[in-house]
Amino acid sequence: MRHLVDTLRESHHLNDEGYEALLTSEDAELLEYLRREAQRVATSVFGQGIFVRGLIELTNVCRNDCYYCGIRRSNVALPRYILTHEQVMQSCQAGHELGFRTFVLQGGELPREKAPWIAGLVADIRARWSDCAITLSLGEWPREDYELFRNAGADRYLLRHESHNAAHYAKLHPREMSLDNRLRCLNDLRELGFQTGTGIMVGSPGQTIAHIVEDIKFIELFKPQMIGLGPFVPHHDTPLGQFPAGSIDLTTRLYSIFRLMFPHALIPSTTALNSLHPEGRVMGIRAGANVVMPNLTPASARENYTLYDGKAITDPAEGIQQLETQLNRIGYHIDWGRGDYKEPIKTL
Ligand code: SAH
Repeated sequence: MRHLVDTLRESHHLNDEGYEALLTSEDAELLEYLRREAQRVATSVFGQGIFVRGLIELTNVCRNDCYYCGIRRSNVALPRYILTHEQVMQSCQAGHELGFRTFVLQGGELPREKAPWIAGLVADIRARWSDCAITLSLGEWPREDYELFRNAGADRYLLRHESHNAAHYAKLHPREMSLDNRLRCLNDLRELGFQTGTGIMVGSPGQTIAHIVEDIKFIELFKPQMIGLGPFVPHHDTPLGQFPAGSIDLTTRLYSIFRLMFPHALIPSTTALNSLHPEGRVMGIRAGANVVMPNLTPASARENYTLYDGKAITDPAEGIQQLETQLNRIGYHIDWGRGDYKEPIKTL
């Protein structure tokens, strides 16, 4: 079955059965070959450098009600916060001093009236740190609000599609949310010129291998610049809180598959992975991921940004030291560049 890995590496594509075979294989030698080839491709493009993004968890206030997410609006047990403009600027300042050149503003989905406030924040970050990329991960908005964010100076947007199967999507979200609207958002973002990221939770309740194959095929067509994948991790105060966590093995296997499909994509080794295993981040990098997102959120707010149970928490400065040590141990280092997506050079 090694030929599947070779085909994927050379043509960046497999048929459905090929993807399914890689996702379900229990052949340890094949899986190690998949991982090694993905790691080799990643280092051939990016060297031994791993990009870092400073994550700022802007708010846990949310108008949406996703069944998996701990900050859904129906979770009344959660104290809510919105960082002040000043707190965000201070977090960026601290991050910039540590060396970060990308800031990711992530959060729950604020009421629509807040769009101009968000755009103002983006414009101020853009004006003060012109050498930095600004990424937003703030969920679903009408196109005109995305346009406002883009015109204010945001460069990138992360919005996982979560599931490309409408029936499965409906198991994860309330009726007022739809796969169609999620895809509309992604298309708008791309048309507006954002570097766009999408992806899924691995092992979300009700997800089958056939669903994941559908997700792979969607990503193959959409060709995002960034691919975000993390294991589902239950949160006790949500409707899906009794389901088991997703698998680390399947998550890292997907990093490898996407690396072979998209040698140049920016693929983070996600926090959720690290929350399930102390070496999760390293396992992701060894499977072909090339980005990590250390947390710059002020400590008082961070403890209430609870997407799922057991989220790993580290102090930013200390976290960077630990990360560098962890990376050095496997022959890598932090790359402090902005780390924009670079189009592959086309050879004739
Ligand atoms: N509201 C925004 C950003 C915050 S959530 C949005 O939905 O895009 C960011 C990501 O966290 C989501 O895309 C989702 O995939 C992930 N997430 C939420 N709840 C989770 C859980 N219980 N386990 C694992 N990942 C989760």
